[in-house]
Amino acid sequence: MRLRNTFNLGRGIPAGQLRSATVKFEASRWFVTLLMRLPLSLPASTPVASVGLDYGVKHTLASSARTVLPAPVATNKEAQRILFLEHRLARCVPGSHRYAVALAKLNTFRSRITRRIHDWRHKTTTDLSKNHGLIAAEALRAKNMTASAQGTVEAPGTRVAQKAGLNRALLEPGFGILMQQLAYKQAWRGHAFIQVDPAYTSQTCPRTGCGHVHQDNRPNRDTFRCVRCGYTDAADFAAAEIILRRGKQTFSAVRTAPALAAGPGRDCAPGASAPRGHRASHSRTKPSLRLSTQAKGIPAF
Ligand SMILES: [Zn+2]
Repeated sequence: MRLRNTFNLGRGIPAGQLRSATVKFEASRWFVTLLMRLPLSLPASTPVASVGLDYGVKHTLASSARTVLPAPVATNKEAQRILFLEHRLARCVPGSHRYAVALAKLNTFRSRITRRIHDWRHKTTTDLSKNHGLIAAEALRAKNMTASAQGTVEAPGTRVAQKAGLNRALLEPGFGILMQQLAYKQAWRGHAFIQVDPAYTSQTCPRTGCGHVHQDNRPNRDTFRCVRCGYTDAADFAAAEIILRRGKQTFSAVRTAPALAAGPGRDCAPGASAPRGHRASHSRTKPSLRLSTQAKGIPAF
């Protein structure tokens, strides 16, 4: 394979210096990943808007701006197709030619959906980063994620449970990547990305002056109703609001602490301190802050 050192990739991507090309074979297709050094132009002004993000399987992302950002997960038809291909694979003898063919078909079909989600993730995080000077999200809860992956989330009907399980399997490995993308995209622009303590975000009343914390504030999965003041909202939006407030608190605390605020671009390399799911199940994930006042690092895509 031959590549010229400088070329234009089109779609608004400026010409840059090619650093490396990685070729890989995945699910019966070849992919080339190009790493390029690009001139980075930062926007003249930092947007002042801030947003809190709550993530779950139902809506993928719910924002404090009262919007939901659903990932393009498997449709009913696709879920059925995957089930069919899995059953066919199960009937083949491992190691046989038929097994290899069935496995390749399943992987090809699955990877089509995961690529679609990957594309959505990049577009969504870019959009969020462009428009928000401060993004707050929960630090990943390894314990809860594992519990739901084992199927402890209540879901009526087996078909629904199967599809929910499939979508969890497709989405959950991506939450960490989503956080990483938000972190480095915010850092590029000199914006802030704050991961807050996830404890009780779903049980805390967002009404100003109330802030009551109780598990009974969640009469069911989708509703928030404060048992003290009666404030009612969709559970995702209430949680996103709490996350935003915690993010703002952390942000202003750090800004007023000179020792921390003095270090520009700390810890903003992609994946440098991204949360991973290997923590002990009882330790609460520590909230972390990635705050950058100057862009750093080479864009990689
Ligand atoms: Zn309340």
